[in-house]
Amino acid sequence: MRPPILFPLFAPINTLKGIGLKTQEFLNRLCGNRVVDLLWHLPSGIIDRTYSPKLCMAKENTICTLKVKVIEHIAPKTKKQPYRVICSDGTGDLVLSFFKVYPESIHKNLPVGEVRVVSGKVERFQGLLQMSHPDYIVKPEDMGTILGIEPVYPLTAGITNKLLNKIMKQALGIVPQFSEWLDEPYLKANNWPSFNQALKSAHLPKSLANLEPNDIARTRLAYDELLANQLALAIVRERVKKQQGREIKGNGLLRKKILQILPFNLTQAQEKVLKEISADQASPYRMLRLLQGDVGSGKTIVAFLTMLNAVECGAQAAIMAPTEILAKQHLETIQPLCEEIGLRAELLTGRVKGKTRTKILQDLEDGKIDILIGTHALFVEDVTFKDLACVVIDEQHRFGVHQRLALSNKGNKADILVMTATPIPRSLVLTAYGDMEYSKIDQVPEGRKPVDTRVMPVAKIDVVVDALRRKLDEGCRAYWVCPLVEESEKTDLAAAEERFETLQKIFGDKVGLVHGKMKEKDKDAVMERFKKGELSLLVATTVIEVGVNVPEATVMIIEHAERFGLAQLHQLRGRIKRGFQASTCLLLYSYPLSETAHSRLNIMKETEDGFLIAEKDLELRGGGEILGTRQSGFNEFKLADMTVHKNLLLTANKDARMMLELDPQLTSNRGMALRVLLYLFERDDAVKTYLAG
Ligand code: ADP
Ligand code: MG
Repeated sequence: MRPPILFPLFAPINTLKGIGLKTQEFLNRLCGNRVVDLLWHLPSGIIDRTYSPKLCMAKENTICTLKVKVIEHIAPKTKKQPYRVICSDGTGDLVLSFFKVYPESIHKNLPVGEVRVVSGKVERFQGLLQMSHPDYIVKPEDMGTILGIEPVYPLTAGITNKLLNKIMKQALGIVPQFSEWLDEPYLKANNWPSFNQALKSAHLPKSLANLEPNDIARTRLAYDELLANQLALAIVRERVKKQQGREIKGNGLLRKKILQILPFNLTQAQEKVLKEISADQASPYRMLRLLQGDVGSGKTIVAFLTMLNAVECGAQAAIMAPTEILAKQHLETIQPLCEEIGLRAELLTGRVKGKTRTKILQDLEDGKIDILIGTHALFVEDVTFKDLACVVIDEQHRFGVHQRLALSNKGNKADILVMTATPIPRSLVLTAYGDMEYSKIDQVPEGRKPVDTRVMPVAKIDVVVDALRRKLDEGCRAYWVCPLVEESEKTDLAAAEERFETLQKIFGDKVGLVHGKMKEKDKDAVMERFKKGELSLLVATTVIEVGVNVPEATVMIIEHAERFGLAQLHQLRGRIKRGFQASTCLLLYSYPLSETAHSRLNIMKETEDGFLIAEKDLELRGGGEILGTRQSGFNEFKLADMTVHKNLLLTANKDARMMLELDPQLTSNRGMALRVLLYLFERDDAVKTYLAG
């Protein structure tokens, strides 16, 4: 249950005063529909209203806050003229001008003979100092409410900065006084303000420097958010680690046989991660380990050897792929090897039906199948193993912590190895996989030829088609990738279908098409024909991104390359890096080309190192490119900025782990405060599931 102290913050935004239906809608679009969403919406600029000169000294084109006496109202003679109010401070005159206003309201706000404080930009017009539509008109006794630095928020249509400031003030006013959830000595050492103070300061910047993410108030808030993230992961991690596992220590005979059969030696990196994995398997606790390796680094064989370790101990193992195509591909690698050493590997996907399925399920339960290969979906269903001791999950996209935990409940204390081909910068590994141990294959097998990557405008498509024709004549196979078709974008996107048709006109029946909306069965059929060489040019949406292995394919053309994120481009290019032949990647772009998109394409030209690309991606995304963030699914922070706060993350990670060692149930004073923090940043799943009380 959410602590009651947080109720006001999680209440709908219209619990604040003066928010009508329209405003509520606009605010919802701007930041969300709860008070807390509003509080995380920090200013991006300031207006300085501290400049308060005498009129004779006032700098033109500057925001001034002026105390003046109202002398005279001059109504407009024509519709084009403004309504004018002449004021003076004894040293000079100021004309306040208004278009399209009701004279009554001006009279009310600016009665002749009275003194008022006005704030706004002063300009010179027809020789006179003028302020057009002052931002503020207040009585002298209220001068304090405007004389200062005004925060400027990112806005949306329908919300003015003035209105937002007013609402924000209310919102800040209802933030309850929280007990400190940070470690006091750490807080003192950093000289950080309390959460409440930090939130207030962040919303009331005094200078431009206060807007920087490394400003002290913002830093404290970022740390709070990172700590919530790390604490939630640490809770999950602790709990999984404490689970009794089994000691898997195979005799190594099967693995030895396989290593003899393989036409290559393992790379040093493969050896290293296998050692790390084997140590986990041998320990009495459960393994929960992430295996990272760039495309083509040889993760499959590592997974297979990991599973063999369990099989050597008489248990079963399973590997789950994100798609049917990939599951089949794993089968093609693993099954022949298994046959050589007298093991049985089977494929179980949604398409295996009827008697075959019944038999596989039965044999699995009887322990006659050693290794099961399937898709994620199947493992959610009721598949019973005789003795499942090892699960390998080949990830396509990120799995949530909870999905991982649901999986870990399968099998007999089974060890879990999660593989990902998306190179993730170290800092993000912590935020997303902080609950897991971590291994990295940081080397690809020797002898691979670099990909010749070129960037060119789509206007040169004729040249591209000519070059492609030569390649196809030489017997090469090629991919042509188009961005996904989104309904709203149909008009300006070179949809895969259209491209398919034009290319078919040129290359005839050598051309095939696969896209995400196709039936799995049809997709496979096309892929199969491409694999066999019946098709030599495959037009595709990003469905081919995921680990499809056609070693003969050596050419890739990516249309609208500027629309893809770096990670995605890297994955795509990985498809033609499989063999030892030279290969070519053409990145076609269209205008307008943003600066970030331009940098992305250049990075692709310069390097093939997935981890380097991932780091660059993070840097570029720091610039606020939403596309990349959304695509890689790491945009989970509201206040922390991973390009700036990386170091805080490491501290938060240590802090969280230490805290759980001292107070595993979070029942101490700090522990209770931390529970509130978890709820505040909505990382409460872990609390609900694993903490008592
Ligand atoms: P990924 O990490 O992308 O899943 P794979 O496991 O599919 O990579 O391996 C890519 C290719 O490299 C496969 O054809 C595989 O047989 C081969 N391979 C794996 N390890 C080595 C190695 N140590 N030396 C040479 N080739 C290897
Ligand atoms: Mg693979």
